[in-house]
Amino acid sequence: MRISALVSGLVMALSAMAAPLGSAHAAEVNLYSARNEALIKPLLERFTEQSGVKVNLITGKADALLKRISSEGRNTPADVLLTTDAGRLHRAKVAGVTAPFESALLQQRVPEQYRDPQGHWYGLSLRARPIMYVKGRVDPAELSSYEALAEPKWKGRICIRSSSNIYNQSLVASLIAANGKAETESWAKGLVKNLARPPRGGDRDQIKAAVAGQCDIAVANTYYLAGMLTGGDPEQRAIAEQVAVFWPNQQGRGAHVNVSGAALIKASKNREAAIALIEFLASDASQQWYAETNGEYPVREGIEVSETLKAWGEFKADDLNLGRLGELNPEALMLMDRAGWR
Ligand code: FE
Repeated sequence: MRISALVSGLVMALSAMAAPLGSAHAAEVNLYSARNEALIKPLLERFTEQSGVKVNLITGKADALLKRISSEGRNTPADVLLTTDAGRLHRAKVAGVTAPFESALLQQRVPEQYRDPQGHWYGLSLRARPIMYVKGRVDPAELSSYEALAEPKWKGRICIRSSSNIYNQSLVASLIAANGKAETESWAKGLVKNLARPPRGGDRDQIKAAVAGQCDIAVANTYYLAGMLTGGDPEQRAIAEQVAVFWPNQQGRGAHVNVSGAALIKASKNREAAIALIEFLASDASQQWYAETNGEYPVREGIEVSETLKAWGEFKADDLNLGRLGELNPEALMLMDRAGWR
């Protein structure tokens, strides 16, 4: 009797101790982020202010972070992976490090095409990859679609980065989804024939090469152009001002878009806080931040975008589920290789 009273007293004391310890532990979340710290830190601070949840930020390159989470296995401290490109989010899903989860808030905040059908990842900001042309050198009436970039009239006039870049892999995946493998392969061959130079450099370098006269059009994500316009470097600004954005495929499926997004890590020890963080990153205020600070687009309509983005006009975006970009990534890679896209 006395012993069992002692035992139950001990159990009560222990559970009384465990409760505050447990909740103190849950008030932290470890975020592995492939996004530049400056682009995310102020948002995280706002989240901590509102929720009381501390965010430990670990930044790194997307592929390295994924490798790290995989090798840490069940012992990974990671709760959330934040990265750009649906292709990379899909890689994390396939690697088995993410866990599907449902959230009424996220279902409401993130349109269906911008999240994984099983709930492994959710898109948080939208990135558009249109055609850019040098004003005065190209008549926009000459432009129409990504497909038309393979026409002989563009011979020696196009700049685009290499096929090792996931943005191009995702673009090609979207073309495979729309037109099939065979048609996309002959398109890629035509595009390669039209390149002004062997691919090199990043998206900004394609824009600069066009303005420098090496080519007339470039394919690039719009936030690079926005960054050149608003980054405070007068030289970059002067270059960017000579470039206009053309939204392709407006008569058909719409321009190619991608997302940055977040996934919940399967081994997360702070699941609730992790989901709350992802929900916060999809909130109106966060959506506006991406548009204003990163030069990206909100994932849903009705959110104010920056003046720079407004100046490029509204556009119709391809509504392909971005999960397809990941599924078709291996196919896209092989196809680009066969087409000689270096
Ligand atoms: Fe980028």
